[in-house]
Amino acid sequence: MRSFSYAAPATLDEAVRALTEAGPGAKVLAGGTTLYDLMKLDIETPPAVVDVRALRELAGIDTAGQELSFGAGALMADVAADPVLRRDYPALAESLSKAASQQLRNMATIGGNLLQRTRCAYFRGGPAFPCNKRQPGSGCAAIGGLDRGHALLGGSDACIATYPGDWAVALIAFDAVLDVAGPRGKRTLALADLHVEPGDTPAREHTLDWDEIVTRIRVPVTAAGRGSTYHKVRDRESYAFALASAAVAVTLDGGGAVEECRIAVGGVATRPWRCHDAERELAGAVLDRRSARRAGEAAFAGARPGTHNAFRVELGARTVAEALRIAGERAVP
Ligand code: SF4
Repeated sequence: MRSFSYAAPATLDEAVRALTEAGPGAKVLAGGTTLYDLMKLDIETPPAVVDVRALRELAGIDTAGQELSFGAGALMADVAADPVLRRDYPALAESLSKAASQQLRNMATIGGNLLQRTRCAYFRGGPAFPCNKRQPGSGCAAIGGLDRGHALLGGSDACIATYPGDWAVALIAFDAVLDVAGPRGKRTLALADLHVEPGDTPAREHTLDWDEIVTRIRVPVTAAGRGSTYHKVRDRESYAFALASAAVAVTLDGGGAVEECRIAVGGVATRPWRCHDAERELAGAVLDRRSARRAGEAAFAGARPGTHNAFRVELGARTVAEALRIAGERAVP
């Protein structure tokens, strides 16, 4: 681990100033559950770290208003336990409670969680492995290599690393937006515009500028929240990343036909992946095993499997279908 300067400002303005003065390469520290790992591995080598854990502006959970509003510094465990979220938006609560471990959820923030980096073993494995994300232009050891956990959707010839998070997958299904602060002022960003596919520049993973801080996550209120779930399939039932996951929310009419449908998949793509084709497949259809299966297949119609991960195309389609079954039971009018 290399030496770095550390600042713990008391206000958001001071934090933005500290970040700006530290210069490009400085990093925001929230829960520290990812950043410190990557610093120990020499993958992140920031000259300066700005600790935002004490900022009042990043605190608070409000699930009683016209929109759901979460301070980016709220802990994953606290948001997962919110009683309104668990009752009215189970997909959001489950995406947090099924992530990582209880110990990590007690430390990690919901803002930091959005920006966690891939678990690709070659990325974390050090300079012995070519990796365009860690060392642009060096190649990609995963393509043609051990790609069991790598992305089926959104990959490129330069990188097929999977976006590992769960929370962002649920948020993209609900059209969440982010409030962001930086030296040029404040702005609002759709979550759908935060993460980017690797293309030719895998090192660039999101659209935030280096000197910006996510302050709040807001979710529009929708009746589809009650009929929702985050279904996560993994090698073990705790402390594991998704082999495939699906965030699904539906409303049904009295005859069981789908009125509103939201579907996103995780663990299978290079970014949180909204499945508009699958949603269209279900629009107006009676939600049953056959239509759910069709939606699952539509979600993976564009999959590009590699050497060892083709089984996750079928697994992903089944995960979507099962999520629709669970959500449909919860949505019964
Ligand atoms: Fe690096 Fe991406 Fe290839 Fe993994 S998949 S080795 S992160 S370039």
